[in-house]
Amino acid sequence: MSEKPTSRFPLSLASVVDKKKNGAAAGSASGGRAQATTQTAAKNAAQSSQRAAALKPVQQGLSQALRAQPAPLPVSRRPQVPAQPLLSAAPVPKTAVKNVMTVTQTNNSNHASPLASEAVRKAMVARVAKQGVADAKVLAALEAVPRHMFIEQGLASQAYVDASLPIGHHQTISQPYIVARMIEIMRQNRNGGRLERVLEIGTGCGYQAAVLSRVAGEVYSIERIKPLHELAKTNLRPLRIANIRLHYGDGMLGLPQVAPFDGIILAAAGLEVPRALLEQLAIGGRLVAPVGGSQQVLELIERVSQHDWRSTTMEQCHFVPLRPGTV
Ligand code: SAH
Repeated sequence: MSEKPTSRFPLSLASVVDKKKNGAAAGSASGGRAQATTQTAAKNAAQSSQRAAALKPVQQGLSQALRAQPAPLPVSRRPQVPAQPLLSAAPVPKTAVKNVMTVTQTNNSNHASPLASEAVRKAMVARVAKQGVADAKVLAALEAVPRHMFIEQGLASQAYVDASLPIGHHQTISQPYIVARMIEIMRQNRNGGRLERVLEIGTGCGYQAAVLSRVAGEVYSIERIKPLHELAKTNLRPLRIANIRLHYGDGMLGLPQVAPFDGIILAAAGLEVPRALLEQLAIGGRLVAPVGGSQQVLELIERVSQHDWRSTTMEQCHFVPLRPGTV
């Protein structure tokens, strides 16, 4: 774990702007692959005890505020553009409250599985806890979200294994441990874990957004691959979660019209954290991102004042790459 200057963060925004859209058809992104990626699950298990010990001092070691370029931020915390619930094909009734989610809502038959049982998910959560995630609210969120509903039927038997799994388009659903760990880090803020508005870059199949919806007031999530954006909508619709807003676009640009965010999570790894995202973090907000190429680390970046951010390296990780533009 180490702190380091954030001066390397900014990418030229011009280099990442590519708003081209296409009319790619919505639908399954599965492509028939029925194989789990090995990723880091085994390594995680082996490292779990070290990690549990190593992570404890993380929050105490953040002393050196590091300078970065001043940047203007929108003053208002309210979205200037009214956010549309993007699960619009199944409007959420006015009476719906956030956190309504039930594992019995398996009206998509592709997602019905005997492994939907709460017991199996409980066991997964117990493993994640053993790997060092201690935040009870995060563990409860993990326990509440039916991960099998975000995975194609052929892989459903692996839904509660702590591994990333393919979701099509060369992308993966993140492993439960890292989903929980990132959210736990984001929640260790000065508001006792309270998060009004959070942003996720890389919706993928929508799983992490669903977990986030149980710990934050509003969840915005951006995906750059149109069929995955559509897949996430399809996966989330039956869960009728009222506080998720899905956006199709380049997440490296963030959502300036909605900023600032109390927390930002990147589900894909860049060589550096895009400047625009740092600027969209609320003061006191926390951004958690994998950074690197073949070797990656999870970085926590806190915004300590209008012009200051500080960075802490947390642990090794492995994510798909963050890419500019949309497809
Ligand atoms: N959050 C997902 C993980 C998805 S994998 C989960 O719950 O499991 C990471 C995703 O990031 C991929 O779908 C990839 O297309 C997306 N991604 C990569 N670069 C991006 C960018 N610039 N903007 C938005 N999404 C991006």
